[in-house]
Amino acid sequence: MEYQKLYLTNNECFKREKEMTPTGIVVHSTGVNNPYLRRYIGPDDGVLGPNPGANHWNQPNIKKCVHGFIGYDKDKQVRCYNTLPWHYRSWGCAKGPKGSFNKSHIQFEICEDDLLDGDYFNDAFSLAIDLCAHLCDTFGISVERIVSHKEAFRQGFASDHGDPHTWLKKHDWTMDDFRRRVFTKIQNNQC
Ligand SMILES: [Zn+2]
Repeated sequence: MEYQKLYLTNNECFKREKEMTPTGIVVHSTGVNNPYLRRYIGPDDGVLGPNPGANHWNQPNIKKCVHGFIGYDKDKQVRCYNTLPWHYRSWGCAKGPKGSFNKSHIQFEICEDDLLDGDYFNDAFSLAIDLCAHLCDTFGISVERIVSHKEAFRQGFASDHGDPHTWLKKHDWTMDDFRRRVFTKIQNNQC
């Protein structure tokens, strides 16, 4: 599993350095049409490209932070970036009546496009599957502990969001399909 590392060290969440033992994964998608990683990650490392709005998440005034992002680099190659140490708590899913998966789950965002491009969907989600297989293998997380933000909400540990189900549905996928593919990858030792 290949990914680049660019920690969001100016983000308040990073600075707090609160640790956790990862026992699950929350899969998010961003909910806005901007598939470029540079929207969320900066400064430009030569691969991401510059963020003209200077609104990436590597700044102190941003109230959210996750462990990783999947999306386009400047040349429209789909890449995975690790943006927070895996054992740090993220600010990804807020909380629900039972608590928050921010204290226990690795969380990453898949950058949405207009949700219609089948090639981008396949590339982005196969990288997400690779990442989940790698993390399950590394941290001994069982595949059924991978949830979407929507499922985390339903379980009572996240805010009321529907990601990434709207996107999955457009391409006839479910989270069970996603988990099955992660499981197969691990079984085949491809992580
Ligand atoms: Zn989400």
